[in-house]
Amino acid sequence: MAAKMALAWIRRDLRLSDHAVLSEATASADQTAVLFVFETNILDSLEPDDRRVSFIRKSLVEVDEGLRRAGSRLIVRIGDPLVIVPEVARQLGADTVYAGRDFEPYAIERDADAGCLLSRDGIRFEQPLDHVIQGADELFNQTGEPFRVFTPYSKAWLARYQPEMAAERAVDLTKLVPAEQIEGLSEPWDWVDIGFVENDLWVQPGESGAKRQFRHFLPAIESYATLRDFPALEATSGLSVHLRFGTLSIRECVREAVARLPHSQKWLSELIWREFYSMILGQFPHVVESTFQPAYRELEWPGDPAHFDAWKEGRTGYPIVDAAMRCLNATGWMHNRLRMVVASFLTKDLLLDWRLGEAYFAQKLLDFELASNNGGWQWAASTGVDAQPYFRIFNPLLQSKKFDPDGVFIRRWCPELASLKNEWIHCPSEAPMFNQMDAGCEIGVHYPAPIVRHAEQKERAVALLSRG
Ligand SMILES: Cc1cc2nc3c(=O)[nH]c(=O)nc-3n(C[C@H](O)[C@H](O)[C@H](O)COP(=O)(O)OP(=O)(O)OC[C@H]3O[C@@H](n4cnc5c(N)ncnc54)[C@H](O)[C@@H]3O)c2cc1C
Repeated sequence: MAAKMALAWIRRDLRLSDHAVLSEATASADQTAVLFVFETNILDSLEPDDRRVSFIRKSLVEVDEGLRRAGSRLIVRIGDPLVIVPEVARQLGADTVYAGRDFEPYAIERDADAGCLLSRDGIRFEQPLDHVIQGADELFNQTGEPFRVFTPYSKAWLARYQPEMAAERAVDLTKLVPAEQIEGLSEPWDWVDIGFVENDLWVQPGESGAKRQFRHFLPAIESYATLRDFPALEATSGLSVHLRFGTLSIRECVREAVARLPHSQKWLSELIWREFYSMILGQFPHVVESTFQPAYRELEWPGDPAHFDAWKEGRTGYPIVDAAMRCLNATGWMHNRLRMVVASFLTKDLLLDWRLGEAYFAQKLLDFELASNNGGWQWAASTGVDAQPYFRIFNPLLQSKKFDPDGVFIRRWCPELASLKNEWIHCPSEAPMFNQMDAGCEIGVHYPAPIVRHAEQKERAVALLSRG
């Protein structure tokens, strides 16, 4: 009897250990080949120095090295996965293609099409769950409806959780197809071949980078609940990009968090937020285009479009907002507290449509994840599922004083403010002229005056959103 051949198509699972797809493929077939497709319909819309592509390519180099150590190699192709995946499967003589389940609307459609095309060739398409612990179609409330509020979702998530859900999915690397058997199936995938240039990253990519970062974070998991809101500290895990691209297994995160309960409760809860937003996207795909709450669908945001550039470039005159945006622009990263602050500022102080901010984050964030980004933006705009009530509006000044009391983060990213005394660092425009001169930072010359007044805009925002 001919040997059974499997093709493992990796997408947001760019690692070789604790891997549902590779585990199932290597357990069920005699030989498994591993494929990654640089999908041009996604890549074509990105800038040539996009950091995500750098992260992906560098992580794939590590996957390839790991496969070569095991006697195999990675097959890489560039183009349309709906053409490439069936073609490679046919060339290999694969019986089954395995790929992790994905709840993004684009991915659902692509995978449904891939399944149809493969079935025409008599090839099965299997989609194990790898990216989350409990999938978007697994957890419902008592009336069988999807949850719309986080707390009951989280309780149900924890009640349904079984250790097997997070058990390691071991990969049998002895079952990989030998490299010489698939030599001609890959194409060159150097920077020039994929049409991108290498970019600097603030995180170490690949599974090795993920493991290192996780080991670094674990001893701090206990202080996470108290320190996580201070952007000047390194008190959060910094793992979001690894979870996004699957260079780290979510099962490993959950196993370690559960083993450390109750001290790790807050961190585990953030992992459940991630699953909550993934479920919301899977169950309510309209959130990609529109507000979750129907009452706000027709809402027109009356802000001044010129303010959007000031927000993007970090020159609103609100130091905490400006520091956060400059950090995002320079690194592709922003601390969670600051994501909430700048999102609230764009929507409730500048009265601009959350979709503008969402799209800007999607362009800049290294850890951009459609579900969490959309969820976070709609939360801040008060238009989303279980969102911030519209009348509770962040005061950027108070947020700044509370979470960056000595202005350490502000000084790091707004060097023109560095010499201001703590008293004025959060609101430099209120500093007397001699203090401004003394610090070498004249408002209107070296740093902008606030582009809006928070107290006035807050009233406008409440009036606008109360109509919903
Ligand atoms: C406006 C806005 C946009 C956001 N966009 C994204 C995004 O594109 N991608 C993304 O991964 N997160 C997003 N978040 C959530 C959160 O800000 C980041 O996950 C977090 O800052 C990542 O840092 P960390 O890995 O150190 O997180 P930690 O605090 O260590 O949390 C651990 C993990 O839990 C998950 N997580 C934490 N907070 C949230 C949350 N509020 N919602 C969903 N998952 C969460 C992440 O996977 C994170 O890595 C957004 C939040 C807001 C308010």
